[in-house]
Amino acid sequence: MKRTLLIIAVFSFCILLVSFSHRNNNAVHPPRATVRTLVIDAGHGGIDPGAKGLFSTEAEVSLAVALKFGKVLEKEFPDLKIVYTRTEDVIAGNKRNKDDANRYRADLANASGGDLFIAIHCNSAGRRPGGWYEKVVTGKTPYKKTVKKKGKKTTVTAYRYTYANVWRENTAHGTETYIWAVNKNDIKINSVNKNEESYGEMETDSTSTLVLPDPSDPVEKARMLIYAQQYFRKSLNLADLIEKEFVETGRVSRGVKQRNHTGIWVLQATGMPSVLVEIGFISNKEEEEYINSERGQTEIVEDMVNAFRAYKQKLESKTVEAAR
Ligand SMILES: [Zn+2]
Repeated sequence: MKRTLLIIAVFSFCILLVSFSHRNNNAVHPPRATVRTLVIDAGHGGIDPGAKGLFSTEAEVSLAVALKFGKVLEKEFPDLKIVYTRTEDVIAGNKRNKDDANRYRADLANASGGDLFIAIHCNSAGRRPGGWYEKVVTGKTPYKKTVKKKGKKTTVTAYRYTYANVWRENTAHGTETYIWAVNKNDIKINSVNKNEESYGEMETDSTSTLVLPDPSDPVEKARMLIYAQQYFRKSLNLADLIEKEFVETGRVSRGVKQRNHTGIWVLQATGMPSVLVEIGFISNKEEEEYINSERGQTEIVEDMVNAFRAYKQKLESKTVEAAR
């Protein structure tokens, strides 16, 4: 009898243990993936105007679009927490220089526990916004001239050139979305436009003191690995969606591009999926007008909201990884 009781007791204990551990398992199940906090980063600002157009600056246009983007999102997703890196025409965090401002952007995004980081910028190319005059040869007239060759006088044919100033329109236009290229040798990312070279208009900043992650440093390497494993695919997914939306609106998409230079330093400094959207060329007369216009900004915002919605839905249905 005693033995039977003992067996029952042990058995009950086991059931209790199993059910407890099962319940516990449920309790530690990770919450469903979604975007709870979105960080919207209007590029440049204040003492850093960014690229200049004929009548506007990148800082102004980026801010206008960033604020409109946030406003539309607030309406559709009342539960979404939106964190802006700036809401007026000042450098982010009121910092002294661009590098400090970029560090502030990343720190703010990380401290806010952001699930997604979207930076908004304008592109720029060429020598001057709108266009420029270039000296070109328009004519070549031959004439005879006498020269001394080894002490002897000989007649040779020389040419007189005529020149003219020709107007060169600044034609580069279209949208681009940048993602952090974690590691050039990562097989997973080699498929993304690796051979495509942009016109050289990228936001390279020779005065920047920001240091890109050094893969030979084990700590940095670990951080890059986390970015590669957890955020790269999601960033790429959102970037794809954004560019697709732009194309559907009739814009020219120059594609999703992966880079690892200081111009997009902030993307790797944020511990979350992150993209940098170049909404158009401020250096192109027509596109500058478009990105400044009510219609243009509304369309850009709509495209980005559509992409955000699709990204969020995919994330919630956990198909983000399987989608590619
Ligand atoms: Zn910029």
